[in-house]
Amino acid sequence: MIVGVPKEIKVEEYRVGLTPEAAAELVRHGHDVIVETNAGVGIEASDDDYLAVGARIIPTAEAVFEQAELIVKVKEPQAVECARLKPHQTLFTYLHLAADKPQAEALMKSGATCIAYETVTDKQGRLPLLMPMSQVAGRMATQAAATALQRSEHGGRGTLMGGVPGVRPAKVIILGGGVSGTHAAEMAIGMRADVTVFDRYMPRLAELDVQFAGALKTAYSLPSYIEKAVAEADVVIGAVLIPGASAPKLVTKAMLKTMKPGAVLIDIAIDQGGCFETSRPTTHQNPIFVEDGILHYCVANMPGAVPRTSTYALNNMTLPFTLALANKGTKQALNDDTHLAEGLNVADNFITYETVANDLNLPY
Ligand code: NAD
Repeated sequence: MIVGVPKEIKVEEYRVGLTPEAAAELVRHGHDVIVETNAGVGIEASDDDYLAVGARIIPTAEAVFEQAELIVKVKEPQAVECARLKPHQTLFTYLHLAADKPQAEALMKSGATCIAYETVTDKQGRLPLLMPMSQVAGRMATQAAATALQRSEHGGRGTLMGGVPGVRPAKVIILGGGVSGTHAAEMAIGMRADVTVFDRYMPRLAELDVQFAGALKTAYSLPSYIEKAVAEADVVIGAVLIPGASAPKLVTKAMLKTMKPGAVLIDIAIDQGGCFETSRPTTHQNPIFVEDGILHYCVANMPGAVPRTSTYALNNMTLPFTLALANKGTKQALNDDTHLAEGLNVADNFITYETVANDLNLPY
């Protein structure tokens, strides 16, 4: 099969659909991998790196879209890319259609088969192709908090995460003990901060208690408990998710007044509207704003800042599915694997994912 990798064109996107190592696996299975020139520059993968594993370099995106049967990307296709898709092609990438009617309509019009990373499931009912990005965002959240706490740039509290002998460490509150929250906690514990994780699901708190063996505290997520903890915190990391819904506002504007000046809020859940009332999306160029003396970091695409790690983490999870699609053909691969089939969002000019169709009021 001809597997195409166009260069990502969304603003500030440096990741790429296939690493050279993933391309090598597809070539090893007998596929013809075509990569747009410079597609890998954002992860320091040169055209020569792809050529060395047997892929071909193609000069333009148009030519990649023209020739490929399976197109592997990272971000949702932009309008110009949707217009290039043909009915016989399969697109495998993040789509996030529920919030993007123009893209959904353009993909329906294309007639292509579109499989979204974010709705592929695993045996436990989790979303394995979202997980790597939550891992990255969680770990980055702690790094971002440690930097923001420094006095110099934005007037952070001037507290070192781990303290030093004789001086107490920073108090870090993590709201949500799922994938991103757990990874944020691991990093904060590694820096020797004083970490408490809140979740509303008791079995999860029990798991964390066992997993971290006393290295963190757990707390049930009730507004009164959160209010008290936030007032004493140096850092609050928002990592909650209610699937398919906006994030609950767990820290209100009124609570900011009770917080220590220069304390830091990191809102990982900003892509779901944010879990702090005062959050608004920021960018890597200008990640932090200050409201009521409290620093807010609300970058919606945190993994974009570390495209190498993010691309490799994503490819580790997507490659088995990409190989299945290429080896078996789309139809057979979807028939054989109900978890991959959960990723099917658009086919034969229709939305094939019920909640997306309902959210957008489009035919299903
Ligand atoms: P997850 O499902 O693994 O974990 C969410 C946790 O939140 C669960 O344990 C759940 O029980 C808990 N929760 C739900 N409501 C709660 C409440 N009221 N109080 C306390 N805990 C509550 O989710 P995840 O993969 O960690 O993702 C978290 C958020 O981060 C999502 O919105 C996701 O889209 C987002 N995210 C953002 C970025 C970014 O760049 N900003 C990157 C990746 C993921």
